[in-house]
Amino acid sequence: MKRALILDLDNTIYPVSSIAENLFVQFYALLEQDPNIDTSIIEAAKSEMTRRPFQHVADDFNFSPALKIKGIELLKSITYNSPMKPYADYHHIQSSGLDKFLVTTGFTNLQYSKIKQLDIVDDFKEIRIVDPEVSSKTKLDIFKELMDKYRYTPADLLVIGDDPQSEIKAAITLGIDTFLYASDNHHPDAVTTYRGDNLEKVLAIL
Ligand SMILES: [Mg+2]
Repeated sequence: MKRALILDLDNTIYPVSSIAENLFVQFYALLEQDPNIDTSIIEAAKSEMTRRPFQHVADDFNFSPALKIKGIELLKSITYNSPMKPYADYHHIQSSGLDKFLVTTGFTNLQYSKIKQLDIVDDFKEIRIVDPEVSSKTKLDIFKELMDKYRYTPADLLVIGDDPQSEIKAAITLGIDTFLYASDNHHPDAVTTYRGDNLEKVLAIL
């Protein structure tokens, strides 16, 4: 019997693809102006940006230190202020009476602006943003803090997210059950307790 759910935000509550072009216009321009990056890398980096924090993408694609700094400065200042909608199946999560926590990695201002546009603040007992520019804490650290603060055991919790290397891995490390929000052919080898491409399946687990 679960007592609480911990959710990821990006690509778990809403699709980043729905806002990426709008959101990253200035950032993509910065990439395209950089003479040291070729077009194929730009396209691959753009796609990764919709899934993972910029700092990790910058390291993986060997962005120059100057470009990484410029990118971080730009992304620190960006907010998203256009209408946004959660995934159509998110209401199944809202309908659960369990306490819910939102733990998301990204730039603080940007993550808060998206949460506001999605109108989901009241769904959560607590919202925690893991911002690599502000703290070296990881999702694993935050999960531990929430367990301490609210006296949850691992068995009390279910972590829901789309990234096997982020929230799913952190939860597995702590012995917490996970729901990987992905279709069968996406991350087929990922280690997770449960998986599915519809959040309605979560209700059957609780
Ligand atoms: Mg995500």
